[in-house]
Amino acid sequence: MVQFETPARSESPSGSSASDEHNNQSTKQSSKRHKKRSKRNSDAEESKSLPINGGPAKAERRSSVSKPARDFRDKPEPAPKKKKRKTAVTPTLPPVDAEAESSTRSPSPVIDFDGLSRPSLGTRERLEESPEQKQERLERMKGAVRTLLECVGEDPDREGLLATPERYAKAMLFFTKGYQENVRDIVNGAIFQEGHNEMVIVKDIEVFSMCEHHLVPFTGKMHIGYIPSNAVIGISKLPRIAELFARRLQIQERLTREVANAVMEVLKPQGVAVVMESSHLCMVMRGVEKSTSSTITSCVLGCFERKEKTRNEFLSLIGVNRR
Ligand SMILES: [Zn+2]
Repeated sequence: MVQFETPARSESPSGSSASDEHNNQSTKQSSKRHKKRSKRNSDAEESKSLPINGGPAKAERRSSVSKPARDFRDKPEPAPKKKKRKTAVTPTLPPVDAEAESSTRSPSPVIDFDGLSRPSLGTRERLEESPEQKQERLERMKGAVRTLLECVGEDPDREGLLATPERYAKAMLFFTKGYQENVRDIVNGAIFQEGHNEMVIVKDIEVFSMCEHHLVPFTGKMHIGYIPSNAVIGISKLPRIAELFARRLQIQERLTREVANAVMEVLKPQGVAVVMESSHLCMVMRGVEKSTSSTITSCVLGCFERKEKTRNEFLSLIGVNRR
């Protein structure tokens, strides 16, 4: 995992508040992930006592990704028996207790039992709101944009800006429409038992996302590869999974990982690799102004993590080494 934009913060042994999410990002890949997965309920207490950097990455990541701002309606069902994470060191690839996750909570931090994929406060509200509530949401957003316009020194009542609050509010809802989507609906059963076991790659998937730190876009290309374990997924589903996670407030590191985890989970292949190269407007336009820099992140799971040869084959096929 490469990261340029985010400074590696470390020493703070703080708890699991939302603002720590960023810190967790920088450390997550380092340590082993076959750490035993604990139940969600105990997770909160546990992670509070864990040092951010000293503790197991597993616990940190789960608390950062799924703990804060969880909607109360998303109370976890009693977790199945503890289970190991399928990654590098573990020999078994797919999650073992398939029956447990069929219709209830999935063990993945990125796909929840209701398929909402990273539920947070407000996600369900947005999904289930009535037309009136929708209108009210829009009005509130318009008010906020109007305030923004005033604060930057503009006159929100001049002609050119009159409809801007509404336009922006609607655009923002579009940029974040991934909150209303879920992996299960997107995949929609498009998994086929083909007995195919060779690498499948969809590359140069255009991705538009929003930096959660600055609320400005980052855009780039994502490459997704996997090695099937007999089953293949409808090829168009991969870009749609990427889109789902991109259309949320993100950081590139997490976006990359969420896509990889989602594919790993819905398909249970031998391995998944995701590489993303992108340009961050918050970096390009602001402060550092390095307009040609690009940020590359990767997440490799399963056989891609274990086998260097497989990983290299993927990298050379997507051509990230070409420059
Ligand atoms: Zn940013």
